[in-house]
Amino acid sequence: MPIRSALSQAARPLSSSSLAEQPQVRAALDWFAKNLKWINDLQSALTEIPAPSFQEEKRAASVRAVFAAEGLPVQTDKLGNVIAELRGANDKECILIAAHLDTVFPADTNVKVQHEGDRLLAPGISDNGTGLAAIVAIARALQAAKVRPQRTILLAANVGEEGEGNLRGMRALIDGYRTKLRAVIVLDGSGTDHVTTKALASRRLEVVITGPGGHSWSDFGMVNPINALVRGSVRFINTKIPVSPRTTFNLGQVEGGTSVNSIPHEAKLKVDLRSESEDELVRLESALRDCISTGVKDETENARDRSKGKLEWTVDLIGSRPGGELGADSPLLAALRAADDYLGNQSRIERSSTDANIPLSLGIEAIAIGAGGNGGGAHSLQEWYEPAGREMGLQRAMLTLLGVSGVAPEKAR
Ligand SMILES: [Zn+2]
Repeated sequence: MPIRSALSQAARPLSSSSLAEQPQVRAALDWFAKNLKWINDLQSALTEIPAPSFQEEKRAASVRAVFAAEGLPVQTDKLGNVIAELRGANDKECILIAAHLDTVFPADTNVKVQHEGDRLLAPGISDNGTGLAAIVAIARALQAAKVRPQRTILLAANVGEEGEGNLRGMRALIDGYRTKLRAVIVLDGSGTDHVTTKALASRRLEVVITGPGGHSWSDFGMVNPINALVRGSVRFINTKIPVSPRTTFNLGQVEGGTSVNSIPHEAKLKVDLRSESEDELVRLESALRDCISTGVKDETENARDRSKGKLEWTVDLIGSRPGGELGADSPLLAALRAADDYLGNQSRIERSSTDANIPLSLGIEAIAIGAGGNGGGAHSLQEWYEPAGREMGLQRAMLTLLGVSGVAPEKAR
């Protein structure tokens, strides 16, 4: 992996304690605790702007305005990713720190933030209100303390992480900066208890079966797409899957038919497949195709009247998140571990499906971490966030970031 070794050779990660001894870095780390109210208020304000995948523009514009107010050069790319730049002494290499803008909630969801004691409640407050507030807070803290990085730091609020967004925002960022990019830090949700270094591979497929359609009584005996879908689906859910490597499937959405007394002309099904192993994913995808094919065949063979038309079927890939894994000797992971040690934090390695899947699948160093505080109920209307202690998560992210970007020596400023 050439890019990973580029990071290893160019500079070992700076230790967190030597970083924190530098007056500017110390000032940036201390900035968070002094500005907690501003950070919490920003998080609420951003959360209250609806931002379903593919409709992130308004929230993006707000993030852009805050970056611009800090005097950072900022641009919006053609997908809607907002990218601010903190120019380093070495502008030929960069580190990306990113948080996704989008939520799983439709635009008409009530996203007004409610307060219950110290707890904030609103759909999207933690995932990813916490990450968004954090990248903006990190930008402000670095600017306020006049920290100049060695490598350029790109701070991005990206589109398309959730659902059928299919990581399109991160794909575009990686495409755009590929040659200069040395590491990626994704801030997603709350907490400081984990670090995602393994990308969970997933595939999403849509099954469509069509037929002639007809009357439930007079055309009885004709092939029925819903029957075929049910026959195929029953076969598929009986497919054996391994406990290890952990592999899952979900029949998540089903559609079809027009009325109870019509033989439908169409049946559709969306399926989500995930696995720790790319091979299992390939096997499961081909099992789905075989089962649907057999379901269609069974329905056709059982039809009493085949003269009235036949069934057609397709299985299309509607989403794919590639897998990947950070090496145990990763400088980025070493920087995160150094930050944890310095802050007295403990975190466990996780495998998950995040924006970090894209760089990890390409051999680019990447992790996803929470941005501090505590949260829960992600993707539900009961989602909540408690900001107490969030400054530690922010310091952890910043020390990891500066660990891999480096800080420019005094004379280079
Ligand atoms: Zn998220």
